[in-house]
Amino acid sequence: MIWILLTLLVVAGDCRKCDGVGRLPCATCERACPPPPTVEDGAERERDGLSVDPAFRPRHCSVRLRCADCGGRGTVDCPRCDVEPPLDPGEVARAADAARWLAEVEAVDRLMERELVHGASEHFRVTFDVPRYDAKEVRSRYRSHDGMHLTLARLEAFYELFCDDLGAVDSDFFGWTHVLVWSSAGDQRLASQQLTGQASTTQSKLMGAKPVVSIHYDKSFLHEEIELHQALVHQTAHCLLSNVYDGVWPGNVGGGWVDAGLAHRYEVDLFDGVRHYCYVEADTLRRFKFGRWESSVRRAVDEDEAPSVLELVGKQTAELTPEQHMFAWSVCDFLLDEHPESFPGVARGVKARQPLKDVLQESLGLSPFELDARWKEFVQRTYSPKPRRR
Ligand SMILES: [Zn+2]
Ligand SMILES: [Zn+2]
Ligand SMILES: [Zn+2]
Ligand SMILES: [Zn+2]
Repeated sequence: MIWILLTLLVVAGDCRKCDGVGRLPCATCERACPPPPTVEDGAERERDGLSVDPAFRPRHCSVRLRCADCGGRGTVDCPRCDVEPPLDPGEVARAADAARWLAEVEAVDRLMERELVHGASEHFRVTFDVPRYDAKEVRSRYRSHDGMHLTLARLEAFYELFCDDLGAVDSDFFGWTHVLVWSSAGDQRLASQQLTGQASTTQSKLMGAKPVVSIHYDKSFLHEEIELHQALVHQTAHCLLSNVYDGVWPGNVGGGWVDAGLAHRYEVDLFDGVRHYCYVEADTLRRFKFGRWESSVRRAVDEDEAPSVLELVGKQTAELTPEQHMFAWSVCDFLLDEHPESFPGVARGVKARQPLKDVLQESLGLSPFELDARWKEFVQRTYSPKPRRR
């Protein structure tokens, strides 16, 4: 009699296990894709200069979507009751969206001939293939999976900063940036050849409306995990700048000073010094290694050896000398510190190949010569002549 009563209660939707919903969170998914890694240490957060949102969750996670127990739904039927959960049209649409996404990123699996870990956030896709990943924020045993979550969270934090600087909103971008991280040089070579169009065992990127970054997490090159973060911020800055407004990479239309200058600005601001170089920069920048560029620029300005802004413009990124990279950083540093409201206009104008004179007049109301004088005055007023921590 009691048993019949209990059954009736359960069928009526009072199951204590599922609160009458008829479904439970999938335990396999919860184990495989635990709550997001967070930056727990305040000092680390300070050093990064980027606060990762502790509540961040990817929009898609391939580990969840491939779960054998729930088929990617994230929930399983309650074993204690027979309640049929109502059909949720939103959930059906989300599942279809996730299936489409997974089918797309699995093109990379076919290329590499194995199942890889992928994730997506609002603005990025990440393929992360570093099984022994040692970031201190990462705790569980699914190492590539955790690296993917952490990378997405970091990239989203960087995206917000980038949009603030560029005065950009989502609709200014053509779409997501795909970031791939490899633990093997061979995988990097294959992926970079196929997905970015240039074979490289270190890193490569494809610019424009559908940007891609592929990077080898090589401990002899990127010694610490923080250097991988720095490298990804540097490369993603190039990609987002090439994507925003018009899909045009300024580094190829005479705007190398903005392209390189902005990428370096984030390194100096967020990571306390330039440590990372692109393929074209790799061999030539050695003497600035781990450089804090402030004092070098200050000395050059003091000794009247700094170039004028006009000497920097019109060059492609690949044509800039190591010194010009440094001065390009400083001009961007000046614009973003002293005239942040002008930077979106400057970037737009440079990408649209407008003459610098017109760009500066429109965005700042200054001539190139006036800009030059103000930039150098800024350097002497704010940069230390001695190497120091910012
Ligand atoms: Zn139940
Ligand atoms: Zn599951
Ligand atoms: Zn996950
Ligand atoms: Zn670069």
